[in-house]
Amino acid sequence: MPHALITGVTGQDGAYLARLLLGKGYRVFGLLRRSASADVVGERLRWLGIEGRVEMLDADLSDLASILRAIEAAQPDEIYNLGAQSFVKTSWTQPILTGQVTGLGAVNMLEATRLVAPRARFYQASSSEMYGLIQRPVQDEATPFYPRSPYAAAKLYAHWMTVNYRESFGLHASSGILFNHESPLRGIEFVTRKITDGVARIRLGLAEALPLGNLDATRDWGHAADYVEAMWLMLQQEQPGDYVVATGRTTSVREFCRLAFAHAGLDWERHVRVDPAFLRPAEVDVLRGDATRARRVLGWAPRTSLEEMVAEMVEADLRRHRERADRPSRGPGPPP
Ligand code: NAP
Ligand code: GDP
Repeated sequence: MPHALITGVTGQDGAYLARLLLGKGYRVFGLLRRSASADVVGERLRWLGIEGRVEMLDADLSDLASILRAIEAAQPDEIYNLGAQSFVKTSWTQPILTGQVTGLGAVNMLEATRLVAPRARFYQASSSEMYGLIQRPVQDEATPFYPRSPYAAAKLYAHWMTVNYRESFGLHASSGILFNHESPLRGIEFVTRKITDGVARIRLGLAEALPLGNLDATRDWGHAADYVEAMWLMLQQEQPGDYVVATGRTTSVREFCRLAFAHAGLDWERHVRVDPAFLRPAEVDVLRGDATRARRVLGWAPRTSLEEMVAEMVEADLRRHRERADRPSRGPGPPP
């Protein structure tokens, strides 16, 4: 039975990846950082019906010794480094922490792998945010990077360190340059989930308006469940490498609003307000990826259309809010 270790297993991608690997017969270990709040472990894993099947190991990406112990305990054949301070806007208010966790945390993982599990295959969660101020209208593995936030700069450092460990020490280390991917398990602060949650609250009479920032930004949005398959495929290749994972279609925040509100029978223009509080010091205006290499080498292609994903997310948020209303005494109900 192959062993996999996932950092960030309590996040969106970690949960979907854990489900995928369990389904393939892996023994799955997850890194869990200490929290004073109860039940941060189970939220997403429970949603996917795999709570209790992932073996949790206490560690933090900023603490090398704890990572060494986790890798020794898991004896992994595959290591997926998905843990990060992943929210771009927070990276301007916490740039140092973002550098330590999203940037140096990846180096801690690479160094620990080199020291105690050099034969393990390593996946680094790189990001289309690294393209930032885009240098080509459509971005692929050869497009120059131009990071526009502390998050993107930290990810770029981690990306190059992954390439460096591959070339210097022969690690089977791959970097997936994933464009935005969403799902009902997306963090509530990201724009897609903020919109679908807002739609549900407005539909159910719990709110009137939805404040947003830049409606003109466009993103290449795919579904997280599709994208974790690409991660796994990268580690099944004989040779490690870097791959763009994207749908090739870009859509504005405005259009995402229109689709999501329309799914619930609402007119977005009656509810969405632009609030400058949600604008950013520097913006990534447009992202659109070319996943030809992933298609050709990995045989990967996205399965879920944007319309299908929007419908799934709105329905999930309607369900969450209805369940919450049915169980008021149990606090905020089934997150995230
Ligand atoms: P997410 O939902 O925000 O999950 C982040 C995970 O990192 C959580 O499990 C979190 O743990 C963990 N984490 C944060 N700080 C940590 C620390 N100091 N030590 C150990 N773990 C820590 O992110 P996601 O959307 O699943 O994304 C997965 C990865 O892909 C991230 O690296 C992200 O930056 C990258 N990425 C995402 C996208 C996207 O569109 N989703 C696109 C490109 C790249 P807690 O639960 O305890 O907070
Ligand atoms: P990102 O691409 O990783 O920064 O993902 P987000 O979902 O956080 O943001 C995607 C785009 O939506 C960015 O260009 C944001 O400026 C834009 N956006 C507009 N309004 C909002 C908002 O209220 N919240 C967030 N998170 N993003 C917003």
